[in-house]
Amino acid sequence: MLRVENVKKSFDGELILKNIRFTVNKNEVVALIGPSGSGKSTMLRSLVHLETIDDGEIYIDGEYMVKNGKYGKPQQIRNIQRKLGMVFQHFNLFPHLTVRKNLELAPKLAKLDTDEAISQRSEQLLEKVGLGNRMDAYPSKLSGGQKQRVAIARALMMKPKLMLFDEPTSALDPELTGEVLSVMKELAAEQMTMVVVTHEMAFAKEVADRIIFMDRGEIVEEGTPDEIFQNPQNERTKAFLKRM
Ligand code: ADP
Ligand code: MG
Repeated sequence: MLRVENVKKSFDGELILKNIRFTVNKNEVVALIGPSGSGKSTMLRSLVHLETIDDGEIYIDGEYMVKNGKYGKPQQIRNIQRKLGMVFQHFNLFPHLTVRKNLELAPKLAKLDTDEAISQRSEQLLEKVGLGNRMDAYPSKLSGGQKQRVAIARALMMKPKLMLFDEPTSALDPELTGEVLSVMKELAAEQMTMVVVTHEMAFAKEVADRIIFMDRGEIVEEGTPDEIFQNPQNERTKAFLKRM
């Protein structure tokens, strides 16, 4: 579903992603962990082309977004972007739109389906994340956990093949993280392919098929949760896990 090869990216002359390479298979859940500043968000943002990489290749669902550092045509990039759903730490809901309209805006603009089908789908997805009774609320009236569940439902509206989560619970009060993690667990159980940047080690251990540990712009180690959490090989992985 995703193949990243030799990705390099600098900010202000400093190499932030140094030759990143990894793959994600269909139906797989991959947790991306590592210290703050290690480049996890930059990597995820590059996958949806919110950042432009300097060199390398990104293939999604068999098509390239960028190959040998050269991006595909705008239409090709848009087609690929449509296959991706992204959920951010800070929700990024449209404050002037109701919950329902937050979900329906993108699919209506993209004419993904008839208005009626789109509206049915938004109702279904809001029920699924436990917010069937808040469809006409504005984001400002919701808790952080509710906002994040709306953000997940909104990303699902476009029927993504790959869901990317960037620390989806880091901005939440501890008592609200569970409701968001359980929606994500449900998605994983339904075989959604997911890449999750997270500091929730218990969640990573339980839900991820594979863990990738990044530090200072590099993938230092990757393996199954057992391999990484029970028997880490690299000193940097060990030190990070001890701190967590
Ligand atoms: P993480 O998500 O692992 O905490 P980030 O990808 O956010 O790491 O950041 C990696 C490094 O890139 C950090 O040193 C950060 O300061 C730098 N960085 C991220 N975005 C920008 C930007 N837009 N301009 C300059 N530096 C940036
Ligand atoms: Mg980050």
